[in-house]
Amino acid sequence: MFVAMRKGATEAEILGVKSRILAEGLTPYEHAGATGTVLAVVGEVGKRRPALIEQFAVLPGVERVTPISRPFKLTSREFHPEDTVIPVLDAVIGDGGLTVMAGPCSVESRDQLMETADAVAAAGATVLRGGAFKPRTSPYAFQGLGIEALRYLSEARDRTGLPTITEVMEPNQVDIVAEYADILQIGTRNMQNYSLLNAVGRVARPVMLKRGFGATVEEFLMAAEYIVAAGNPNVILCERGIRTFETYTRNTMDLAAVPVLHQLTHLPVIVDPSHATGKRWLVRPLALGGVAVGADGVMVEVHPDPDSALSDAEQQLDLPAFAALMRDLLPIHELVRDMRDGYEAGVTGNGDGLARH
Ligand code: PEP
Ligand code: MN
Repeated sequence: MFVAMRKGATEAEILGVKSRILAEGLTPYEHAGATGTVLAVVGEVGKRRPALIEQFAVLPGVERVTPISRPFKLTSREFHPEDTVIPVLDAVIGDGGLTVMAGPCSVESRDQLMETADAVAAAGATVLRGGAFKPRTSPYAFQGLGIEALRYLSEARDRTGLPTITEVMEPNQVDIVAEYADILQIGTRNMQNYSLLNAVGRVARPVMLKRGFGATVEEFLMAAEYIVAAGNPNVILCERGIRTFETYTRNTMDLAAVPVLHQLTHLPVIVDPSHATGKRWLVRPLALGGVAVGADGVMVEVHPDPDSALSDAEQQLDLPAFAALMRDLLPIHELVRDMRDGYEAGVTGNGDGLARH
């Protein structure tokens, strides 16, 4: 349930409500929004719900108590109507500007990364990507350069000013990746790795969570909820395609998920047409499509010589193709800027097909 405090409620009143919530064995999460402070009450409420609603409603400073109809709470628009805006170095994600994360699938060498970093920075990318620890379907495929790649990424950040993003695959890698990279990525295969979600929930770095290739929107948001509940509010969602009966493309990019997520959650949404399609020539149309349906940004794999790439050779763009894509993305983003205005007003309503809990 949410406990909405009266506008102007005192600190003491807010503390009083929080301690009552704790005394019931539940956890309060506070959000101080434009319309006042809201406390999300999280935990096993069960049959006590009606009684608790009545008790909390009469505490000093409380405006009203509403049951939460959704399984995700901290990530919901109801709790946090305003968009989450995430500053990372000079980049800002989720503020209405266009985030473009670009770089190679895998960091393969210092030269390869520096050449790509310089080119994507010059073309207007805002974040540099590069895989260091690679989740590969085959145990015999290139597994990434590991810590050596992390060092190159931080050198590339110092050289270009671009914040970096790289994947973390295991809880015991979180500290070292957080030491070198600015944004941690959770890959599609790990979306429901709960010990990893808890581990990234405890570090002071934004996390980009990629949608599991077999996950519903609700499961995706519940995974994000783990990270936020563990203490890290700076979560970015990434739609990277889901597995359907279609085999022509590597995955099926769920474009509708972008406005659906914007309606349900305050977290920024990025699309990844590279992994969604697996085909170089499809990256441009799907990147434009993602921005056209309101994504906060795109992630695109870029390589100086894609055909010789050690991973995902078929889907990486070369440097001129990326620069051309950048030029096309910006006007589309300008055109749809105002599409997002409705979301903050809490236009969630019913009929969204999600289970009620
Ligand atoms: C990646 O972005 O490097 C990656 C492996 O993506 P995904 O987890 O979406 O397959
Ligand atoms: Mn890749």
